[in-house]
Amino acid sequence: MRLGVCGWPVAHSRSPQMHNAALQHLGLSTWRYQKLPLPPELFAEVIPNLPRLGFRGVNVTIPHKEAALLLADNATETAKQIGAANTLTFEPDGTIHADNTDATGFLTSLRTSAYGKTALVLGAGGSARAILYALQQAGVSELRVWNRTEAKAHALAQEFTATVSAEPAEIIVNCTSVGLHDPSATFKELPLSADDLYAGCTVVDMVYRNGGTLLLNAAKANGAEVVDGLEILVAQGAASLERWTGRTAPDQAMREAVADIAT
Ligand code: NDP
Repeated sequence: MRLGVCGWPVAHSRSPQMHNAALQHLGLSTWRYQKLPLPPELFAEVIPNLPRLGFRGVNVTIPHKEAALLLADNATETAKQIGAANTLTFEPDGTIHADNTDATGFLTSLRTSAYGKTALVLGAGGSARAILYALQQAGVSELRVWNRTEAKAHALAQEFTATVSAEPAEIIVNCTSVGLHDPSATFKELPLSADDLYAGCTVVDMVYRNGGTLLLNAAKANGAEVVDGLEILVAQGAASLERWTGRTAPDQAMREAVADIAT
């Protein structure tokens, strides 16, 4: 059986190492997970042919997540509400099923209930959509969204019953790419100070850096709970793998495989 990740570009993806470690751990020796570089203009033509080449499913990343949902024959309510899919499954009856495990993966990695808490999401891109949906479903008491380009924050706020605000909250999620290349930009470009990351709150950074991002290191120093981007990568990957194989994903083996190669 074959699995893969479709993106454009996809060279940077750590998913093959993570999934192949999991497949090995599960003893699924005939299964392989590979990178599938696919330009947008070929997406709709190539995907329906993958089952014939032995594919059971694929993860889908930038820029194909919306196209993946449109192409599928059926989809989970989660994928429909987010408006994007990151997991396609090729069913034995020939249909294509779409899911979005970014939302469930995020809630799994939180480790604490978001119910009744206030939450602030920074960013209004693809990952912010999934996180806003997840937090809304988890029953937060107040959902705030901030984005550098304010119009996009207003559009998302309307869709996910949030308010446009940068007021700190009990759960803070960085869904921007700030801190990825230049850690020193973190407190300049995000509307937060280290004091906003207090003990008792949970700070999540979708961005992953070896040694921790500046945001997470500041939160940790203040005694806040932290969740890094690697945890979320593993959690969403585990949910996809379980959908394809019907087996419980070996989270620890997956975590170790990506931690080894993360930069
Ligand atoms: P998008 O390109 O869809 O969105 C990027 C967001 O970052 C936008 O809100 C953008 O604001 C904001 N942004 C970019 N530069 C700045 C800046 N200098 N100052 C303030 N805001 C800025 O990306 P995604 O939502 O897909 O991904 C966001 C980050 O999360 C990436 O770093 C990605 O690697 C990471 N990620 C991690 C995952 C994981 O599994 N750990 C999964 C998915 C993503 P604006 O609208 O104003 O341009």
